[in-house]
Amino acid sequence: MVISREPVALAQPFEADRDALSPNRNLTPLTTALDSDGRLTVAGCALSDLARTYGTPLYVLDEATLRGTCSAYREALAKHYPGEALALYASKANSSLAITALVAAEGLGLDAVSAGELLTALQGGMPAERIVLHGNNKSREELALAAERGVTVVADNWRDLELLAELAPGLAEPVRLMLRFTPGIECHTHEYIRTGHLDSKFGFDPDQLEGVLQHLTGCPWARLTGLHAHIGSQIFELQPHRDLAGVMADALALARSMGHPVVDLNVGGGLGIRYVASDDPPSIDGWVSTVAGAVVAACQERGLALPRLLCEPGRSLVATAGVTVYAIGSRKDIPGLRTYLSVDGGMSDNPRPITYQSQYTAVLADRPTAEASETVTVAGKHCESGDVLLKDVSLPPATSGDVLAVFATGAYNASMSSNYNRIPRPAAVLVHDGVADLVQRREQPEDLLRYDVLPARLRSVG
Ligand code: PLP
Repeated sequence: MVISREPVALAQPFEADRDALSPNRNLTPLTTALDSDGRLTVAGCALSDLARTYGTPLYVLDEATLRGTCSAYREALAKHYPGEALALYASKANSSLAITALVAAEGLGLDAVSAGELLTALQGGMPAERIVLHGNNKSREELALAAERGVTVVADNWRDLELLAELAPGLAEPVRLMLRFTPGIECHTHEYIRTGHLDSKFGFDPDQLEGVLQHLTGCPWARLTGLHAHIGSQIFELQPHRDLAGVMADALALARSMGHPVVDLNVGGGLGIRYVASDDPPSIDGWVSTVAGAVVAACQERGLALPRLLCEPGRSLVATAGVTVYAIGSRKDIPGLRTYLSVDGGMSDNPRPITYQSQYTAVLADRPTAEASETVTVAGKHCESGDVLLKDVSLPPATSGDVLAVFATGAYNASMSSNYNRIPRPAAVLVHDGVADLVQRREQPEDLLRYDVLPARLRSVG
């Protein structure tokens, strides 16, 4: 197979932005190219070949793009922050053993929000001292697992502290704690993914902070080493992140003045990515430069020794590395109104359009540069009229059996997937150097029956 390494001349508006330092600003994975037959390839693998081999829908993840975003964060933190710094991968974006192993190998840490994400992280090889556990309603078991394994617990509320105090007598070491508080910062993103404003279920209210810090001075089982705040997700503005630095530096000054050995300032994640050509997110370097500069300035103004700077990117680390491949099935033309093309997946493998009205970009995998002369709506196969993946987009005329590639699906797709309509979850492959490694097996319909229990008295019914 001949692979063109030149930037792919996809028809507008799909042309890739080739800023190698800003993989979150590209629409397509960094290794996207055309083979000698004009088919779309990622890491040297033709997407339609992958579809034939592994079936559809299929999540394809490009290793080079994921490693590229990891190194972009690592290098930007080293360049722009004079103190110690670490990016923690927000694994809610896409949690798997393979992604954990890659992110750990790239030297990042990880943020988990459940026992499931925590076990995945530990089994995927992430060192416990680089993991933090979040959650606004952690169970006793989740807290015990974190505390016993030496994972830092991000205390979100009084109940976390009560449960940890109960667990403490059985622990060999004091629990490393971070305190999460709501910074009271508004940003422009979908209300479901806004978390920094005061009316949020996450974190201590800022008015409670002093009382919590006071309480912890009398808790020998706790070692408060960090403060955390997160303002939301898919954010393109930089000003809210600047504002956050000031609010957090005030909290840092307060905590240190009360004797807490706070060394970590965790500013959360939130950097947006490009889903459609009109999206214009800051680059990873630009975001880090702003955040780091604001933290340094805020600490200097208050005469504070620089903390270790932590951030928790999810979407901007993994979204652009992902492409979802579907087979097109039925077509419905409603004259004068709309043409529906239905694919063999939909809201169960990508709930973002129906949840947040998110937009995506797609091409036909074997004719990515053909003239996009039709306006179509790409629908999923679920029993919901709202199960639409792409509304009124331009595509070349497509027929049943054509393979559709939807870009920027590496974050919050697999991790938010469901079995709605009892549809099995897709397989996932990691592509690199012309090779695809299976990293998630395809669920089978029988798998979905594994946890069903048919009571004996109903067995003979009918
Ligand atoms: N940290 C926390 C606490 C979050 O809730 C989230 C997601 O909303 C993230 C990090 C990751 O955000 P993003 O994927 O926008 O970078």
